[in-house]
Amino acid sequence: MPGCGWPGLAVVLDLGEQPLANAILKAEDLGRPEPRYPLAMAYCPECWLVQTTENVPPDVLFREYTYFSSVSDAFVEHSRVIAERLIAQRKLDATSLVIELASNDGYLLQHYARAGVPVLGIDPARNIAEVATARGVPPWQSSSPASSPSNSPRVAAPPTSSTPTTSSPTSRT
Ligand SMILES: [Zn+2]
Repeated sequence: MPGCGWPGLAVVLDLGEQPLANAILKAEDLGRPEPRYPLAMAYCPECWLVQTTENVPPDVLFREYTYFSSVSDAFVEHSRVIAERLIAQRKLDATSLVIELASNDGYLLQHYARAGVPVLGIDPARNIAEVATARGVPPWQSSSPASSPSNSPRVAAPPTSSTPTTSSPTSRT
């Protein structure tokens, strides 16, 4: 069940059934029907959360993701500027922890890691995780034993030494 779980959601935009974004078809799949999923946005009158009415299973949506944030030099540079600004403003150091949901290929967290700030990226895409790992910021993946043997988040170097402060960049990739 997506979102807050309230049974009385009010649909405000229904786009019908849509193919998945960035799901590039292979040549052998062009003659077959493309998988489609409901795409509707709804509003919860109880908690005000705007949400989709159905979730596509992460294994389907994200396991092989074709969008790599680092393909844009301008975006990587923008991320570097943000990281340096937040490190200075919030005095982040080796006792801090920066968490990014949907951390993609480490385009953002790499800047914190290079500055000696521990990071935790979370991203379900296996192919993108390989790139992020090579960049020194391996993401935690909830159902990926190969990437996380203990099935618990890992923090990329340097190790934390005390109760971390948290800064959570919110850019969605
Ligand atoms: Zn709600």
